[in-house]
Amino acid sequence: MDQLSQNSVRDFDVIVIGSGVGGATFADYLTRANKNIKVAIIESGPYRDRSYFNQKEIEMTEIYFNRGAVVSSNMQIGVAAANTVGGSSAVYTGVSFRPPESVLEVWRNEFGLAFLTPDFVNKSLDEIEEELSIHELPESWDNQNNLLFKKGAEALGMDLKRLKINTKGCQQQGFCNLGCTTGAKQGALELQLPSVMERGVELICNAKVNKIGENKVYCSISKAPKGTISSSYEEGEYSFTADYIVVAAGVLNTPAILLRSLSELSISKENIGNYLTLHPAMNLNAVYSEEISNYKGFPKTVYSDHYSKSDHFYLETSFYYPGLTAKNIPGYGSLHSEFMKEYSKMMSILILIHDKAEKHNRISIDKKGNPQVNYILDPKAKESLVKAIQVSTKLFFAAGCTKALIPGSNKNPLVKEDMPLIEKYITTKDLNFSYSPMSSAHPQGGARMGDDPSVSVCDTKGKVYGTKSIYVCDAALFPTSVQVNPYETIMLLAKHIAVNMRNEIANS
Ligand SMILES: Cc1cc2nc3c(=O)[nH]c(=O)nc-3n(C[C@H](O)[C@H](O)[C@H](O)COP(=O)(O)OP(=O)(O)OC[C@H]3O[C@@H](n4cnc5c(N)ncnc54)[C@H](O)[C@@H]3O)c2cc1C
Repeated sequence: MDQLSQNSVRDFDVIVIGSGVGGATFADYLTRANKNIKVAIIESGPYRDRSYFNQKEIEMTEIYFNRGAVVSSNMQIGVAAANTVGGSSAVYTGVSFRPPESVLEVWRNEFGLAFLTPDFVNKSLDEIEEELSIHELPESWDNQNNLLFKKGAEALGMDLKRLKINTKGCQQQGFCNLGCTTGAKQGALELQLPSVMERGVELICNAKVNKIGENKVYCSISKAPKGTISSSYEEGEYSFTADYIVVAAGVLNTPAILLRSLSELSISKENIGNYLTLHPAMNLNAVYSEEISNYKGFPKTVYSDHYSKSDHFYLETSFYYPGLTAKNIPGYGSLHSEFMKEYSKMMSILILIHDKAEKHNRISIDKKGNPQVNYILDPKAKESLVKAIQVSTKLFFAAGCTKALIPGSNKNPLVKEDMPLIEKYITTKDLNFSYSPMSSAHPQGGARMGDDPSVSVCDTKGKVYGTKSIYVCDAALFPTSVQVNPYETIMLLAKHIAVNMRNEIANS
């Protein structure tokens, strides 16, 4: 392949920064009806295809920014996001939720996102769900972790629902978050990116965008790491031009790129990065009476939204690899290591809290321009988390677990006989995030979409207020938390932004 040097002039109609859910969906809808639009996707991560993913936990942390956890400045929560072609869709589990109508109502009424009519939302998501093969997994696929969750939830009288997943030909290997070795997961890597490249969209990988100006993108291209698909560009500093620049670098990096570009753009930094929500998560583990095969099979098939309205949390089934499980179990020393020895008997539950969008929770940049997560969990959300931990612990024991090492418990391990006193042992006062940090795989906000420029970064077509050519198209647009796993909602916004831009280009 010819090597393109930094002196080559490269000019595009549209440059998309980031090849994840927002960027790839945008490029797909933009080029569907008009293959003549000249589009480039500039991606900081390497091009790892399914042959790269080897299911080895330590090696595969390379797929992520900061090896899996960009930790908040107060060290209380680590945010996971992938730095790879396909973005976080290369490592997501594929759990597929439509945005709740109650959230869309707020987005329409309080933020002016009038385009999110039930008709637009339902028709668009019907189409997206069909294209991504989104479906409920059959009950015969429930592994023992899912079966025990069902047993425990039923014993406690909790509502149970089946999750919808976007897989085709899944072989139930259970390593979704380390990349899918068979390409079953219908994310950007397998679906939209191959389609758009076939239509002539150029993918420029290992290319970190440093800053942008009107119609300009400045990036550094590095060598492709071993085992990844190399690009046709030589290493070096590049600038590209385009009529439209679409920033889709994810919640950590989209605000960071905008903040690094203040000297080039005549925009105010006032709202950039603000109103970050993290859908904070905690993964809990307990030991069952005998060996169970949770590491086999699809990790998630059922969930409960029983406490969603009253206490603002969901519980989903989950199962993680040994390193991550060790991080999720509180404490250290002999108690921790004895507990880890029972990994093959462990049952696991993922808690997801609906957090509020607050101005002080924000992405800023450090002196080197790297994103910094500033996040304090609101006291009400902390109460929800404690309630979720109490309910999950009861569920473990109702399912037949014998002991549990639980964050926020003043007695550890807890045993089945402690059931009647769970509220006494697990309290808000005892939940210390320095000891048991939260995690987040669903960051949202930071470049809010809305009709009021005084509290938003982007208008209702995704264009950054005060610019001529700059758009945002990823989860950073969310005005508030969508309160469910977010990727379908990102695709919905990406479709809206792409179709508007396609029409504008056609009429220009
Ligand atoms: C482990 C894990 C499991 C998840 N499971 C689910 C799930 O089951 N269901 C669900 O709905 N959601 C899930 N999510 C969340 C979902 O993947 C994200 O919400 C979604 O991918 C975000 O889309 P995005 O376009 O905003 O960002 P991303 O998909 O993360 O894409 C951003 C892209 O921009 C690139 N980039 C960043 N900075 C630069 C730069 N300076 N220059 C060039 N490129 C840059 C990144 O490398 C990345 O490719 C999961 C996430 C993780 C991490």
